[in-house]
Amino acid sequence: MWVYVDHFNGEALTASWEVLGAAKMVASKLDAVVLALVFGHDVGGLSQEALHYGADEVILCDDPTMSDSRVEACAALLSKLASDACPAVILAPGTTRGSDVTAMISIDLETSAVVDGIGLNVDDGVVHVTRPVYAGKLHSTVSAPRALPQLITLRPRAFPKPNRLTNASGEINNVAPVLAENEIMVKITNYDTVVGQVSLTDASIIVSGGRGVGGPDGFEPIRHLAKALGGATGASRAAVDAGWIPYEHQVGQTGKTVSPDLYIACGISGAIQHQAGMRTSKVIVAINKDQDAPIFRLANYGIVGDLFKVVPALTQEFTKRLGK
Ligand code: FAD
Repeated sequence: MWVYVDHFNGEALTASWEVLGAAKMVASKLDAVVLALVFGHDVGGLSQEALHYGADEVILCDDPTMSDSRVEACAALLSKLASDACPAVILAPGTTRGSDVTAMISIDLETSAVVDGIGLNVDDGVVHVTRPVYAGKLHSTVSAPRALPQLITLRPRAFPKPNRLTNASGEINNVAPVLAENEIMVKITNYDTVVGQVSLTDASIIVSGGRGVGGPDGFEPIRHLAKALGGATGASRAAVDAGWIPYEHQVGQTGKTVSPDLYIACGISGAIQHQAGMRTSKVIVAINKDQDAPIFRLANYGIVGDLFKVVPALTQEFTKRLGK
């Protein structure tokens, strides 16, 4: 069983370790070992980390051509390794890069890919993947018993991050890249850092605002609550379309899919397209002045009231209790 480790400049995305944890569970049922695939430049430390997060062995390609996790270079190498070794299963995090690589190798290897898994099970040697369908209204269970390898991506934050083992050992096997620099079309010239923002996909707490916030200034109390809780700010498409907040914050069918521990929806009615992006959140709190808003049917906790009164009161109380 192989696990593709997605990282940025040698720092793993948490979703990669979540996938390693899930892989260990599946491998124990298949009596298989877990190999982590670490491709990058100056990523020796990352391959050690993969062992600490449960990999039995690592396949490491540490080469300048593998910098920036360019999909052509990573997919070409992974396809070659997989066609040589024929692993039964390759798991990847459903991050942008993890999904890109999975899509490319499914074409190279002429196999199918099951994406956006939120649950895994093993029956008769076949991995069964639970994934949301119809905008999250149903969960389907999918398997690809004749696919070799079975390619599966897992939704970030759908599986727990395993504990980091203090003592870990395992073989690290170095491999060479298959594409030379002049064969890779994409060159990454620059990154712009967005300072002080929590990534929506990684956030364990998200406070989102919708049309109910009434305008760009209405996001101020939402941001304050998010900050008090150490979370990120999300939004409905209505708020994004109105130009009150940038698209990067949009949660839903045509925005980000998130699974935080806590999702607080403020002034959001709960349209099916919004639910598609957040309904796998562990705890959902809705604040809405309309007691019949559909979001209350999904929420674990509901507060019927004016968000401009409720949200600042929550911020004040959390700030006090959390000692911020
Ligand atoms: P509304 O539905 O207008 O709800 C506003 C809510 O705020 C109401 O329930 C109201 O009672 C409440 N409210 C008003 N004032 C206050 C106040 N002071 N205090 C408390 N509550 C208040 N939507 C998304 O969110 N994400 C998507 O990715 C997405 N993709 C889409 C894709 C397609 C193809 C289509 C057709 C639609 C998509 N939509 C998406 C749009 C979706 O259908 C809804 O129109 C949108 O989610 C509504 O946003 P909203 O809940 O903020 O606004």
